[in-house]
Amino acid sequence: MQIQFLGTGAGMPSKTRNTSALAVKLLEERGTFWLFDCGEATQHQILHTTLKPRKLEKIFITHLHGDHIFGLPGLLSSRSFQGGEELLTIYGPAGLKTWIEQTLQLSQTHLNYPIEFVEVTEGVVFEDDGFVVTAKPLQHVVPCFGYRIEQKPLRGTLQIEKAIALGVPKGPLLGQLKNGSDITLEDGRIVKSSDVTDPPKDGFIVTILGDTRSCENAVLLSENADIVVHESTFDHATEALAANYGHSTNMDAANIAIKAGAKNLLLNHLSARFFPQDIKNMLEEVHEVFENAYIVADFEEYEWQQEKLAPFSQQ
Ligand SMILES: [Zn+2]
Ligand SMILES: [Zn+2]
Repeated sequence: MQIQFLGTGAGMPSKTRNTSALAVKLLEERGTFWLFDCGEATQHQILHTTLKPRKLEKIFITHLHGDHIFGLPGLLSSRSFQGGEELLTIYGPAGLKTWIEQTLQLSQTHLNYPIEFVEVTEGVVFEDDGFVVTAKPLQHVVPCFGYRIEQKPLRGTLQIEKAIALGVPKGPLLGQLKNGSDITLEDGRIVKSSDVTDPPKDGFIVTILGDTRSCENAVLLSENADIVVHESTFDHATEALAANYGHSTNMDAANIAIKAGAKNLLLNHLSARFFPQDIKNMLEEVHEVFENAYIVADFEEYEWQQEKLAPFSQQ
């Protein structure tokens, strides 16, 4: 799994930071990627990456502010032009479906694939064999949600030599053991899957929070998460503004991560008022209380592998 940031700015684009969007790349896990928020020109940002819009499986929208959704109509349209035919599911607050459908209808945009809309309320918004995604409301100036993605435990590897030594013949019985089923041999002996497979491994937990002032639900969503993506619109000097506008400072974000027992913190949604030196200072301040924190930039990618987070470069 990798997380690639496509837009890390707050409110409006600057020359260095586009508006909000990030991709959770699940190419190894499910052959697709999921998008969280879709600020204007997200499709242009995608052109500078290896992401293929036809592999886009799900879009999760945190809230309906323009800097989080104005890129949707163009991206949806281009996905169709680029041969996307698979179902796309869009999760978001009430009103999103109407806005998208009316925009597509008025512009006479016809898509070659079906869209399923899921109106998000508190609770589980998606679950299958591999993942469960839950949402909780945050505290912003409009309804806004945070999402917690939990990968289900991964089946342990089959110890083939051990199975064969116990008399399991090569062939489909090995497959059954690998898939967790116990089997009976011709002589009546039972071989348990758990005896010939490694123990299951924990999956990852990634929490992606929308715009919010510091709140309890941000902590609950982030509990024991491997990675928390949190907004950091303001800093020390501007902290009075954070509460008024329903946003957080760098230190609010750090405190959420600490309270939740999270392992890594990625800070995004930076105001264009900050110069590089301000950002360096913001990060240093966070590092005094929470070591595994990064302030992210557009196109940066972070890889989760062997239970560790590492900045990841494609070239
Ligand atoms: Zn925003
Ligand atoms: Zn907002």
